[in-house]
Amino acid sequence: MSQAERRHVELVKESGCACCGAAGFVHAHEIEQGLWWTSIGLCPDCHTGPNGIHGDKTLWRIHKLNEIKALNETLRRVYG
Ligand SMILES: [Zn+2]
Ligand SMILES: [Zn+2]
Repeated sequence: MSQAERRHVELVKESGCACCGAAGFVHAHEIEQGLWWTSIGLCPDCHTGPNGIHGDKTLWRIHKLNEIKALNETLRRVYG
């Protein structure tokens, strides 16, 4: 992991949840493991919770989101 990747992921973790909009510290979820530039900011519920992206994805359906849209929202929040 390069310095630039590390810095980017730190910003993602401060950008709030790209799925439900929860503010504050969030996890960084990569669309593909190890591809740090695809990191998405996700709160624990929308990430590893039972209804999150690693669960049955109910929260993602409610917010009509997929990983590409969430990545776009994360990058907007960080750099927009
Ligand atoms: Zn969330
Ligand atoms: Zn994840």
